[in-house]
Amino acid sequence: MDRKYDVLVIGGGNAALCAAISARRAGASVLVLEGAPKFYRGGNTRHTRNMRCAHDAATEILTGPYTEDEFWEDLSRVTGGETDEELARFMIRESKDILNWIVEQGVRWQPSLGGTLSLGRTNSFFLGGGRAMLNALYLTAEDLGVEIHYDAEVIDLDIRDGMFVSARLKRPINGPTDISAATLVAAAGGFEANIDWLKQHWGEAADNFLIRGTPYNRGSILKMLLEKGVQEVGDPTQCHAVAIDARAPKFDGGIITRLDCVVFGIVVNKGALRFYDEGEDIWPKRYAIWGRLVAGQPGQIAYIIFDSTVLTSFMPSLYPPIQAGTIKELAGKLELDPAVLEKTVAGFNAAVRPGTFDHTILDDCRTEGITPPKTHWARRIETPPYYAYPVRPGITFTYLGTRVNKEARMLMKDGAPSANMFAAGEIMAGNVLGKGYAAGIGMTIGSVFGRIAGREAAKNARN
Ligand SMILES: Cc1cc2nc3c(=O)[nH]c(=O)nc-3n(C[C@H](O)[C@H](O)[C@H](O)COP(=O)(O)OP(=O)(O)OC[C@H]3O[C@@H](n4cnc5c(N)ncnc54)[C@H](O)[C@@H]3O)c2cc1C
Repeated sequence: MDRKYDVLVIGGGNAALCAAISARRAGASVLVLEGAPKFYRGGNTRHTRNMRCAHDAATEILTGPYTEDEFWEDLSRVTGGETDEELARFMIRESKDILNWIVEQGVRWQPSLGGTLSLGRTNSFFLGGGRAMLNALYLTAEDLGVEIHYDAEVIDLDIRDGMFVSARLKRPINGPTDISAATLVAAAGGFEANIDWLKQHWGEAADNFLIRGTPYNRGSILKMLLEKGVQEVGDPTQCHAVAIDARAPKFDGGIITRLDCVVFGIVVNKGALRFYDEGEDIWPKRYAIWGRLVAGQPGQIAYIIFDSTVLTSFMPSLYPPIQAGTIKELAGKLELDPAVLEKTVAGFNAAVRPGTFDHTILDDCRTEGITPPKTHWARRIETPPYYAYPVRPGITFTYLGTRVNKEARMLMKDGAPSANMFAAGEIMAGNVLGKGYAAGIGMTIGSVFGRIAGREAAKNARN
């Protein structure tokens, strides 16, 4: 490790591996430093299941076309226009190629999961999930001669006038702790696992957040880059956050702690009151707002309430729902005011208009005369037993990041492109995601910009 590498990649998830493979295929010598131990390699990517890519026709596993324009419309809607349109459209165009490119790197697809997910046309699922996907990328990288080290946390970066010089390791690995390279690809994730950093923007509420993924994404590399002259992008409070079971562990609970049943019932806060339209949009476009919504409620806790008619309509939960014979009894078990919960449910039931229920479309089952309304999938909660899940904000990843251009090259505070620093994945997600989320875009961002970052870094190193 005392040699000088062409490309140093910091991180060990999808973005890092795509960058490493792409740089190596372009002829560069590549070193990957993954801060986590080998068993935990791969950050949040370990937990993923699918990726959203544009495609003009159905594929073996995707049920129909998903055009660039439709992808753009979806992204534009979920972000409320808070995205860099040029960069986002560029990413969407490039995503078309990723469907094949990632297969060439050893990743395999499987048919989409069905149920309430509604992703069969838009998102490709990894055979065996994110961990299998990562294993394939690691194998390919190793076969190509990429050097990979685990437990290799980078604790400092030497950056001079927008130029990366070297990285310092927390502990020596086969030699010195200072590693030099001609170019840097930063793919070290967001700062979601750094509770103190979250608290700077969310206050004490952040103590009640659960972190769905790796405890190793503490944002240290992001912080160093921003402190050393890289231009930041995004709002530090914006993140991907879903409602997860309040009984989940503090870190790394993964996908199984998520609850996908909001659309089948109502959601109340600690005061036993509803606070948002549970039927606003179909699942992939709206599931990711519920973490923020719960974060805004007292005590950062809420309860999804439903009845026995829908118990088997969504994916089974890791923790069993809390069950009761009456709404009053349910309120007691949840430590909510029984009279208020009874009134909330009765008021909701009275407002439900007749309609034809269909969870796959924006159906006509809605409420009338209550605030907030439930605009689709509204059905009375009246068939015991009654059920509830307590939910807390489950933070997936943060959006504050480093600004990049179409080469995935970081821009410095004065707007000038860095001489030799690139970024990919969560660490630059804020370029595309100003707010909101559409399922599967995290992996699109990492794959598209990882591939480009690696290629451009290799080119840069050669010059
Ligand atoms: C439960 C869950 C499910 C998800 N499901 C999906 C899905 O199905 N589809 C989708 O598109 N997205 C999904 N996401 C989001 C997705 O995981 C991320 O967008 C994506 O994996 C980010 O890839 P990345 O390479 O940028 O970061 P990561 O995969 O998180 O990798 C970051 C890496 O950086 C390393 N690192 C951090 N700091 C240092 C340091 N100082 N030195 C060295 N290494 C460091 C970490 O150890 C880690 O390996 C999910 C996330 C979670 C938590």
